[in-house]
Amino acid sequence: MSKDYGKLTVFELKTKLNGRGARTSGKKQELIKRLEDYDRNNNFQNIVIPQPSQTAFHWPTEQFRSIVHQDRDIIPPLTWNFVKAYFIYRGAIDHHMNSDIKSIEKGKLLAESKSTQACSVLYLDACVYFSSLVQAAMKKGLHYSTKLKIKSSGEIENTSCECPAGQGPHSTCKHIAAVLCMLVEFREKGVLDLDSCTGSLQTFHQPKHKHQGGPVEASKLPGVSTTDVDDDPRPMEYRNAPDYNDLVRTNIISYCGSKQTSITMRYLYKRADLEAAQKDHDYFSIPFVEYLVDEQFKVIR
Ligand SMILES: [Zn+2]
Repeated sequence: MSKDYGKLTVFELKTKLNGRGARTSGKKQELIKRLEDYDRNNNFQNIVIPQPSQTAFHWPTEQFRSIVHQDRDIIPPLTWNFVKAYFIYRGAIDHHMNSDIKSIEKGKLLAESKSTQACSVLYLDACVYFSSLVQAAMKKGLHYSTKLKIKSSGEIENTSCECPAGQGPHSTCKHIAAVLCMLVEFREKGVLDLDSCTGSLQTFHQPKHKHQGGPVEASKLPGVSTTDVDDDPRPMEYRNAPDYNDLVRTNIISYCGSKQTSITMRYLYKRADLEAAQKDHDYFSIPFVEYLVDEQFKVIR
């Protein structure tokens, strides 16, 4: 072919180069060399691999049911090789080989953190459909719905995800990789690693690190400055008051008497001395003891 180029005029050479999207500047020899380069390298375009049609794929939406352990024996024999083959094949179509192998790695990480929160399955026409919810990697509370169609041989036929990278009937985002990881693990080891949001008890109130060892003074806890700690719960005006103990005792006895109840602190103090009480309660119209007896009988009456 190259021998023909020499016979062409510069104008014809430039027209040919233009048609291939190549530069048209330079002398005749450069133009010929450039055309030869383009011939040798298939116009610098990658080899076209027959591409599955990108027409809208209709996913079944009904009659899915949650995946259960018994599905291990009936789901297709999905293996790592099928997963890798699908991602590489897809990579060849989109010329994103590297990023798609990376998405398998990212998917593995997602699967390790149990990001697949729900998975439903549908057996239809010798194919198995999986519909899953995968938690987004960095955003809490955001979930992507992913769909898989797997042939009974274990070959992956169609995939789709809600995330920006997961469009089309053959998407290969990390969420799809995560679900596939989960399914491969499930088939091989029988472990169904679904982290449903209601599957486990809430844990936010539980300490992340349990304290090992003896009691620690509040003032010596990490992150607590000693000036922050106030050991004395009494209001400032009652501290160091000489009759504070009497005040507490009187309040407790009064409380127990008026509410006809007994609180534990009541037993810290001796019962009232009747003689002293009589002197203290000289404002009654009747002697204190009589008043006391009346009160006692009032309950019985
Ligand atoms: Zn996705």
